[in-house]
Amino acid sequence: MFATLSDRLADTFKNLRGKGRLSEADIDATAREIRIALLEADVALPVVKEFVGAVKERARGEEVSQALNPAQQIVKIVNEELVNILGGETRRLRYAKTGPTVIMLAGLQGAGKTTLAAKLALWLKEQGKTPILVAADLQRPNAVNQLQVNGGRVGVPVFAPEPGNGVGDPVSVARASIEEAKRKLHDVVIIDTAGRLGVDTELMKQAADIRDAVQPDEVLFVVDAMIGQDAVTTAQAFLDGVGYDAVVLTKLDGDARGGAALSIASITGKPVMFASNGEKMTDFDLFHPDRMASRILD
Ligand code: GDP
Repeated sequence: MFATLSDRLADTFKNLRGKGRLSEADIDATAREIRIALLEADVALPVVKEFVGAVKERARGEEVSQALNPAQQIVKIVNEELVNILGGETRRLRYAKTGPTVIMLAGLQGAGKTTLAAKLALWLKEQGKTPILVAADLQRPNAVNQLQVNGGRVGVPVFAPEPGNGVGDPVSVARASIEEAKRKLHDVVIIDTAGRLGVDTELMKQAADIRDAVQPDEVLFVVDAMIGQDAVTTAQAFLDGVGYDAVVLTKLDGDARGGAALSIASITGKPVMFASNGEKMTDFDLFHPDRMASRILD
């Protein structure tokens, strides 16, 4: 088990109570502990450096408060800065003003997109929406079937290409799905797109073409929280290649400490909107920056 940042700092500040201000040496000792805590949580190194710099700046200016001991005070600053980078408030889904709301999912194969699509559909259904799922991942032979199975589990229809119906490519499937949604009065369209094992330009181009064709209200980048440091490279590649409005973190039920959330939010400036934390269809919720901050620190 790792010691929590609070434990480490309590140790660092054992003899500090009652001093008026933190000395440079205290601040350096603090910075070292925060750095270790963030690296243990798998936060990317450039993000750790920037973060520690910001906390040092703030710590320098602070009077040691009467109410909190120095360790508590630093943990409070770290926590506030973390929540800030993670987007502050929970980011809510933006719905279209007219016509169906179109949500497009992008991410690497295995990130959990297909599972997430169905979870999101269920979550929307529980809020009184009438979503439809769209199988625009025509790359992986089993992807359409998998979406249909997941759709069946949550009782949400799936729009998929059928032999001979003239919509064999992902862009025309996506386009046709919007017409289908309008015809059948679905108010949210969730488009699952193809993922590859690694970032590649063909995948990016296909996702960008779908995006251009359907002009989604939200493009969500789905990423596995367990990939740790690699999350930053992938997140940046999808931001450059496809662009997205917010991030969905999956597999948060694993033992990842949540560094990926901080790294992605810090490097891309995009908020994390949803968290997927299990294989059950109900293992899904809005992302709460304050809860993630605690997870990174604990
Ligand atoms: P896709 O290739 O991005 O569509 O990924 P899938 O939805 O097929 O998910 C890949 C694997 O991860 C499957 O075995 C899912 O059951 C699993 N999975 C997806 N989301 C989660 C999650 O939040 N927690 C866990 N433990 N497994 C997940």
